[in-house]
Amino acid sequence: MGRVFVAGSINMDVVATADRHPRVGETIAGKEVLYFPGGKGANQAVSAARLGAKTTLIGRLGKDAFGAELKAFLSDQGIDLGHVQETSEAHSGTAIITVAEADNTIVVIPGSNALVGEDDVSVVPLVKGDVAVSQFEIPLSTIAAFFRRARAASATTLLNPAPAQKFSRELLELVDILVLNETELGLLSGAALSESTDHAGIIEAARRLQASTSQIICVTLGKRGVLALAGSEEMIVPGRAVQAVDTTGAGDCFVGALASQLADGVALREALRFANVAASICVQRMGAGPSMPTAEEVAAVM
Ligand code: ADP
Repeated sequence: MGRVFVAGSINMDVVATADRHPRVGETIAGKEVLYFPGGKGANQAVSAARLGAKTTLIGRLGKDAFGAELKAFLSDQGIDLGHVQETSEAHSGTAIITVAEADNTIVVIPGSNALVGEDDVSVVPLVKGDVAVSQFEIPLSTIAAFFRRARAASATTLLNPAPAQKFSRELLELVDILVLNETELGLLSGAALSESTDHAGIIEAARRLQASTSQIICVTLGKRGVLALAGSEEMIVPGRAVQAVDTTGAGDCFVGALASQLADGVALREALRFANVAASICVQRMGAGPSMPTAEEVAAVM
């Protein structure tokens, strides 16, 4: 059984709730302040670890109170933090979120996440059978170095290009499995996609993006499930009909779950089915990190 290595962001999400949003220059009294561990890297590591994968997170925290709290939370999830360095050069990644009138505004300050560098990934003990996972909340040059190291070790590379931004062909060619949602696919492929785009349209956009026929592209479709292109094969896993209460972290849950299965040697089709079930459980609960399901919970509905 392989390990899951996630190189990525770790944030504290600070959520303020109020009856309405303040206008520019205005101060208003809020109702509550809530603290949620977040960041795509941390969320995906939590998802993989809760599902039973041996999981190592590679990242950076500031030497501050949020850093200490995040470390305690991640360690409680059973994640190996031996490659999470503390830096005094920046504060821990922080997202300031205001929720009012069922809408939110978000300011994310990358802080220490921007300092995750090639040195952090150069010492990671990847071996064949492991899965190396990353997303776009740390420098892209670090992700490329991480994947080059994974390739050299014959480990599998999995990229979740979110938040979406254009990236180099060189990085794309280092990716074995690309997992992205419809919005990200639209931006990266240049295809005009909408809610009503059918499977054929999504497959066509995925083919446009595919760097080689051996590259696997998984497109998550929200409540419609997931569609994957693997060589000339197309796989469709329909979404589960559930009562979604909060879809925050659904994509991160899916990525962590898929990585956990692939590290366990499970075939792609079955791994997609498992990840689709895991993410459908995640959307039925509030929050990101804390809403990730356990292997028992997934097994109960498989
Ligand atoms: P993201 O969070 O990146 O936008 P998606 O919205 O595509 O990603 O969701 C990721 C996965 O979560 C989907 O492929 C599906 O498995 C599951 N999912 C998301 N929303 C729902 C929903 N309303 N009902 C059931 N499953 C869902």
